[in-house]
Amino acid sequence: MRILLVSSEAVPFAKTGGLADVATGLAKALASDGHEVVLALPCYRRHIPEEGRGEKIGQVEVQMRMKRVRADILETTLPDTSLRVWLVDQSNYFDRASLYVEGGFDYADNSERFLFFSRAVLHAARNLYFLPHIIHANDWQTGAIPAIVKEKLRDTEDFRGVGTVFTIHNMAFHGAFPPWDLELTGLPQKLFNWRQMEFYGQLNLLKTGISFADMVTTVSPTYAREICRPEFGCGLDAVLAECGERLVGILNGVDMDAWNPELDPLIPQKYSSDRLQPGKAACKATLQSELGLNVSPKSLLFGMVTRLTDQKGLDLISARIENLLEADTQFAFLGTGDEGYEKLLRELEQRYPGRISATIGFNEKLAHRIEAGSDAYLMPSRFEPCGLNQQYSLLYGTIPIVHATGGLADSVTEATPENLANGTGNGFAFQRYDADAFLNACWRAVGMYQFRQDDWQRMQQIGMTRDWSWNRSGRDYMAVYEQALTRVKSTT
Ligand code: ADP
Repeated sequence: MRILLVSSEAVPFAKTGGLADVATGLAKALASDGHEVVLALPCYRRHIPEEGRGEKIGQVEVQMRMKRVRADILETTLPDTSLRVWLVDQSNYFDRASLYVEGGFDYADNSERFLFFSRAVLHAARNLYFLPHIIHANDWQTGAIPAIVKEKLRDTEDFRGVGTVFTIHNMAFHGAFPPWDLELTGLPQKLFNWRQMEFYGQLNLLKTGISFADMVTTVSPTYAREICRPEFGCGLDAVLAECGERLVGILNGVDMDAWNPELDPLIPQKYSSDRLQPGKAACKATLQSELGLNVSPKSLLFGMVTRLTDQKGLDLISARIENLLEADTQFAFLGTGDEGYEKLLRELEQRYPGRISATIGFNEKLAHRIEAGSDAYLMPSRFEPCGLNQQYSLLYGTIPIVHATGGLADSVTEATPENLANGTGNGFAFQRYDADAFLNACWRAVGMYQFRQDDWQRMQQIGMTRDWSWNRSGRDYMAVYEQALTRVKSTT
C-alpha cells in the first residue's frame, strides 16, 4: 500500500509532543512491513540543519487568499532508514524560533501556515506523482486534508478512491480560527456549517478532520470511548459520539531502540525476561545508592517519572503516601511542573530521608534508571490518552499501578489469580479515581511483593513478553487503512 503520512512534527526533525514519536514510529513500522511510505512535515529551518534537509525534488504553488505562495519540496530520509521524508520549505511560514508558539503566544498566522502546509503536501503528491492509497493526517494542523480530499480531489483521476485517516493525539487543541480563514482552505462556504467545519461560530480544524475523514483514530481504545463523553471530549464529544464505528483507538507503540532493558546503555546492568537477575537487582541497588535511599533489596521501591500536574494523580499520592510508608516501602520521584507539587515532593524527601527521593528536573538518564531500578511504578492519572511510562515499566519488569483510564486501562490488567493463570495479569489497576482506591491497589502490590514472590515474578514475565512495539500498532493502523478504503468504495 502507498501511504502519505502528514504530520506537523516528527522525531528527529522537530518535536513538541507525542505526535512526533508516533509519526516516526508508525512510518518506520509501516515501511518495514513493506509498504511504500512518505512522511511529510514542514521544513522548520531553525530546527532542521541544512545538511539534514536532503535535496529539492519539486516545487508547489498554492493560492492563499490574494497571493500565490510557493514552496520547495525537499526530500530526505529518516536517519538510518531509506524511508522518504518530504519537507515543505517555505521560509515566511517556517523559518521561526518555534513550531507553534513564541513567548507564550500562538503565531498569529498559524491557520495560514498549516493550511498552506496541508495544501502544499497534496499538491506535491500530485506533482511528484506519489499517488497514495491512504492519506493519514494528524491533529488540527492537518485537519483540513480529509475535507479537501473528499470535497475536491476525489473527483479527479489521480485521487479517485484514495482513503483518509485522521488521528487525534491531543483533544485539547482544536485549531479554532475566525470564520474568514475558511478562504485559506480553498473550500466552498457551504461547508462552514455546524455539522462540518464550524464550531460555535469559528472554523475548527480538529472538528473538520473528524467530520470528513473516512476513519478517525485516537491513541487508545478506552480513550476512544471516553472522548465521546462530555468529561473527556473537550466540547467535541457529540461530534465524536456520532462517528460510531468510524472512530477507533490504537495504543501507541514503544520505541524499542530506546526502551529495551536488553540494550539500554543508560542503565547500570542490562537484563531480559529470560535473565532478569542479577541485572534487575543490580539496577535497584545502584538506584537506591545514587538517590540516597537505604540500600535494601527487600523494600518495595515505587518509581514515578512525570510532569508534575493535576492530570498525573499527584493529589492521590500526596493524600496516601504516609500510609504506604508504614510498610517497608521506598519512593523515587523524578519530575518537573507545578510549583506546589515540586515543593511537596521536596518536603517529603526531607521528612523521610532514606525512604523518599525527589529529583526535580528533566533527566533522561535518571528516567531510564528509575524504570529499571524500581519494583513498581505509580501512574494514577486522572486521565491518560495513551501513556508511555506504564508501557516502559512493563517492558522493564517494573509493575505498574494505575488508574484504569485511557491507555492505562488498555495496557494494564489487574493481577488476580485468574489473570495470572491466563497470562494477562501484569499490574494493579483501580477503577474509581479516589485516594482509598489508589491506596488499596498499592496494598495489593505490597502484599504480593512481600508474600507471593512467585506471583510477582509471573506478573513481570507477562508484562515483559507482550509485544509493545510499533509493529503491533502498525498492524492495527493497517486494519484501519483497509476499513477506510472499504468505506470509500462503498460510497463511490
Ligand atoms: P505525557 O506525555 O502525558 O507527559 P507519557 O507517559 O505519555 O506522559 O510520556 C511522558 C514521557 O516523558 C516519558 O517518556 C517520560 O519518561 C518522559 N518524562 C516526563 N517527565 C520527565 C522527566 N522529568 N525527566 C525525564 N523524562 C521525563
